[in-house]
Amino acid sequence: MRRKMAAGNWKMNGTSAQLAEVDTLIAQTGDTGVDILLCPPATLLSRMSMAAEGHALQTGGQDCHPAEKGAHTGDVSAEMLRDAGATHVILGHSERRTDHGETDDLVAAKTVAAWSENLTAVVCIGESEAERDAGTTLDVIGTQLAGSLPNGATGPRLVVAYEPVWAIGTGKVPTLEQIAEVHDFIRSTLIARFGETAGNSIRILYGGSVKPSNAAEIFAVSNVDGALVGGASLKAADFGGIITALSAA
Ligand code: PEP
Repeated sequence: MRRKMAAGNWKMNGTSAQLAEVDTLIAQTGDTGVDILLCPPATLLSRMSMAAEGHALQTGGQDCHPAEKGAHTGDVSAEMLRDAGATHVILGHSERRTDHGETDDLVAAKTVAAWSENLTAVVCIGESEAERDAGTTLDVIGTQLAGSLPNGATGPRLVVAYEPVWAIGTGKVPTLEQIAEVHDFIRSTLIARFGETAGNSIRILYGGSVKPSNAAEIFAVSNVDGALVGGASLKAADFGGIITALSAA
C-alpha cells in the first residue's frame, strides 16, 4: 500500500511574506493521512523547515548539484539541502530540462547525489505537446525513465512525477484515460526494472494544472498516488483543497 503524497513546487516564487501561507496551511491541516511536501526557493528552505517542525509537513529543494561540494557558483548541494531541513528534492523538472539543458544522464547523477544524503528524489518526466501530437508519448516516457533513474530505486528513495510539459501552468489537463495510460506504463516499467516489491512501492504523482476543482477525479485514476502542484501550492486555501481531495481518495 503506497501512502499518498501532495507535493508543492513554489518554483521561483516567494519571499519572507509568503511563509505566512505555510502557517495557514499548518493551522488548517490536521491529520490528513497523506504525505505533504513543500519545495520553496532555496532562500526560504531553512525557515520553512523550522516552521514545519513538529507538523506533518516535509520540505524539499527544487534541484541539487551532482557534486558533493566545490567550485559551482550559484549551485546548491544535496548536503546543503539536508542541512537546511529538506527531506526531498525535485530533480529534472521540465523547466530545468528546458532552461538549463538538463539531460537524463545529469538527472540520474543528481539522483545519486540526493540518495547519498538520504534525500528522496522526486524525479520529473513528461512529454512535450509536439511529442504527444506525434504519438510518441510512451517512447519519450520510457527513454526518460531509463536514463534519469539510477539503479537501486526503492519507495523511500524515489517518487516519480509524470508532468506533461504542455499541461504545466497552462490550465490544460490530459484526459483521465491519457493519465491512466501513462501512469500504468510507468508502473510496469518500474516493476520491470526494479522488481515487483520496489517497483510497486515507488509513488507516481501526476503534475500539470492540478487544482482543487479537478483534483478528486485525477486522484481516482489508476496508479495516481498524488500530485506535484505548482501554481496552486502557493495559496494555502488551494493546496489545502487538493490535500483534502487526496485524503478522501
Ligand atoms: C509544476 O511546475 O510542477 C506544475 C505542475 O505546475 P502547475 O501546477 O502550475 O501546472
